[in-house]
Amino acid sequence: MGVSLPRKEMFDIPEGVIYLDGNSLGVLPKGAVERASSVIRDEWGGQLIKAWNTAGWMALPSEVGDTIAGLIGAPEGSVATGDTLSIKVYQALAAALKMRPDRRVILSDSGNFPSDLYMAEGLIKTIDKGYELQTPAPEDVLEAISDEVAVVMLTQVDYRTGRMHDMDAITAAAHAAGAVMIWDLAHSAGAVPVDVAGCNAEFAVGCTYKYLNGGPGAPAFIYARPDITLGLEPALSGWLGHAAPFAMEQAYRPAMSTERLRVGTPSVVQLSILQEALKVWEGVDMADLRAATVALSETFIAEVEARCPTLSLASPRDANIRGSQVSFAFEHGYPAMQALIERGVIGDFRAPNIMRFGFTPLYLEEAEIIRAAEIVEEVINTEVWREPKYQVKSRVT
Ligand SMILES: *Cc1c(COP(=O)(O)O)cnc(C)c1O
Repeated sequence: MGVSLPRKEMFDIPEGVIYLDGNSLGVLPKGAVERASSVIRDEWGGQLIKAWNTAGWMALPSEVGDTIAGLIGAPEGSVATGDTLSIKVYQALAAALKMRPDRRVILSDSGNFPSDLYMAEGLIKTIDKGYELQTPAPEDVLEAISDEVAVVMLTQVDYRTGRMHDMDAITAAAHAAGAVMIWDLAHSAGAVPVDVAGCNAEFAVGCTYKYLNGGPGAPAFIYARPDITLGLEPALSGWLGHAAPFAMEQAYRPAMSTERLRVGTPSVVQLSILQEALKVWEGVDMADLRAATVALSETFIAEVEARCPTLSLASPRDANIRGSQVSFAFEHGYPAMQALIERGVIGDFRAPNIMRFGFTPLYLEEAEIIRAAEIVEEVINTEVWREPKYQVKSRVT
């Protein structure tokens, strides 16, 4: 048995806010402010460059990688941290393509997050050897896996709808066809139980500012299956992925570990905050977390559907194939979400018409979900979203 949820006391959440956007930017863990100020004031300010050794800055990336490994079912030493997720997608894909030099197809799906697809497009142009990116509908991916596919690259949980792929089944199919498997866990890590080693995929990548509460700009992570690591050719051969960064050798020689997937100087302040944020997971049983997520999501769906017939569920109704978010399609979703946010219910809007609500049982409880549904009812049924102030588009939606 893990600790009981929620663990609200571990977070600083503004009064009067029901936060249903932890799938996009997690909330502030209580220890983060103190840790960040101590890193800045005592370590940077007080110890200056010595702090790389005296404050353990250089060890942070792998320490944090090992903690993340524990949350995604990966063995120690198999997860490197740093950069942003887009960069990690690029690295995984470039290394995976090298593993299948005779094949030319990258298979993803049309529901993947745009940046993953953009990075694939960019890599294809850079390599310039006739690679092709295929993006069937998510439900058609399994059938599209053929012996022409070099790499299957998917995000487990669809950022728009919350639809969840079966990692075991798809990885097995990819391997049966001779393809390499990359999973993007952006909406999985800290949200659903993940067993990266168990599914046997070659690569997994993810970010830490969503369900892992690492804060805006927190570093990403990349997992490589231990048996392939020493054969990987890093596409971004930066000095911190070198076997001996401080030997200052003229030629690149990759590290003899997952560290070869690092690139440059780690973001020490963000990594420190993330290390602090990851402490909230101590003692949390992912099966308990998942059960709580499903309960909160089912309550929300039932309450909203009973109150707002004009909203239509855009997420799978079957909780077994739904991640940690619930989305409703509504033509006027953008202004409706602005009206909700003004009333303290913070979700987000994803073009063209999706109102998205994330469920994070570390800091959400049933009563808030019911209250949120009441506020959704008020906004939708009074059509208050028609007010001009809610139509103004911000830069970030
Ligand atoms: C959030 C997210 C990203 C964002 O990538 P960054 O480089 O961290 O901005 C990429 N891919 C997926 C699937 C995401 O959900």
